[in-house]
Amino acid sequence: MSHPIKAQEFLSDPAKAKWHDETLWFVRDKRDTITKTIPEWEQLRDLASQIKDNVLANLDRYLVEFEQKAKANNIHVHWAADAEEHNHIVLGILRQHDCKAIVKSKSILTEECHLNPFLEKNGVEVVDTDLGERIVQFLNQPPSHIVLPAIHLKKRDISEIFHEKLQTEKGNEDPSYLTQAARVHLREKFLSAKVAITGVNFGIAETGEFVVCTNEGNADMGVHLADVQIACMGIEKIIPRRRDLGVFLRILARSATGQPVTNYNSHFRSPAPGKQMHIILVDNGRTDQLAREKFKNSLKCIRCGACMNTCPIYRRSGGFSYGSVVPGPIGSILSPGLDLKKYSSLPFASTLCGSCSDVCPVKINIHEQLYEWRQEITKEQGANAKSISMKIANGIFSTPFAYKISGKMLRGALKILPEAITYSSLNTWGKQRDLPEVPKESFKDWYKKNRK
Ligand code: SF4
Repeated sequence: MSHPIKAQEFLSDPAKAKWHDETLWFVRDKRDTITKTIPEWEQLRDLASQIKDNVLANLDRYLVEFEQKAKANNIHVHWAADAEEHNHIVLGILRQHDCKAIVKSKSILTEECHLNPFLEKNGVEVVDTDLGERIVQFLNQPPSHIVLPAIHLKKRDISEIFHEKLQTEKGNEDPSYLTQAARVHLREKFLSAKVAITGVNFGIAETGEFVVCTNEGNADMGVHLADVQIACMGIEKIIPRRRDLGVFLRILARSATGQPVTNYNSHFRSPAPGKQMHIILVDNGRTDQLAREKFKNSLKCIRCGACMNTCPIYRRSGGFSYGSVVPGPIGSILSPGLDLKKYSSLPFASTLCGSCSDVCPVKINIHEQLYEWRQEITKEQGANAKSISMKIANGIFSTPFAYKISGKMLRGALKILPEAITYSSLNTWGKQRDLPEVPKESFKDWYKKNRK
């Protein structure tokens, strides 16, 4: 199903769509305010972008360095070529430990690999411990935003879900009350899980350690209580040195939510005595993307979500309209690399206003890549209604006589044609808009008469 059709579903509740738009704009605004307090903000963006350029140019070397250092720190390192291999590695570790229930902190990669349904199918209970993720998990929904997974839901919705799942008071929408109920519920899960799964925000080649950033401390809580940690990391998450981390930690939370820094930036370097630490390095299409000269920059993404918060299309169409794990502008340049046919409508879900590129803390040229994908998709799809009509328009606009005659004919036709034809299903443009009033004469005729 294409983006415009799914967006229509979202827009069928205009009040909610308006609220979604305004809420995300509020987050964008917070980002703007806080970045203006950092005089060197633009230098930080440049530096982050350059560090990531270096990573992409030397990814093989940094990954091998990371593996060596991590192994020396007693971390078990696994490599997964794709989602299937990743999921089987996780399951293998769980079976070794006879584990039937795990806690998991936020990890877009595990969503990308569809780990939850895979584990559940294999008899493992998965509990997402990020509050927003737990809420959408109760609804059997994927996250609609990479940083704010339940941003499409209002307090009232959450109150109803908690009443049903956690037996909270009916109608009580107090955020503190609901959060407290979630804490009690999650605490039980934390205490009983033998294995904790986390994502990875940064893997440091120089030291073999990795860093996980959360606002709720749920990754730390899970890891410290469990016997085994499994960290799932996309191979592009490598940074060369520990000192590079400061650059990224300064830009990540400011870009994401307008906070000075994420509440918990936890460094994992080696397992505690008697415990195990595993890290899975996952490719799943990343090296293919790296080989695409025009699109490889998309791998610089640090998943801050700022491009979503600013995008006029994302704000007005909601995360689910993209049908991909990573929605919004960055998802629209990553997803076609995974499946061009399936995600062919996404690069068109943009005004190409460039706001995404302006806010991106690692300076990805997102709107240019969206435009590039459009060219690729159009080439791939061959002639369609739009390209044929553009060709016809090109012929008309470049021939003065044809332009004059067709203008005259159209003006005449629009006056007499019934609305059933002018606003038929072929006129998708006219679904949300009225055609302009037909002028009596062409500009050329008017000019001849009035500007002699
Ligand atoms: S593309 Fe840039 S703005 Fe968008 S999520 Fe990634 S880092 Fe953030």
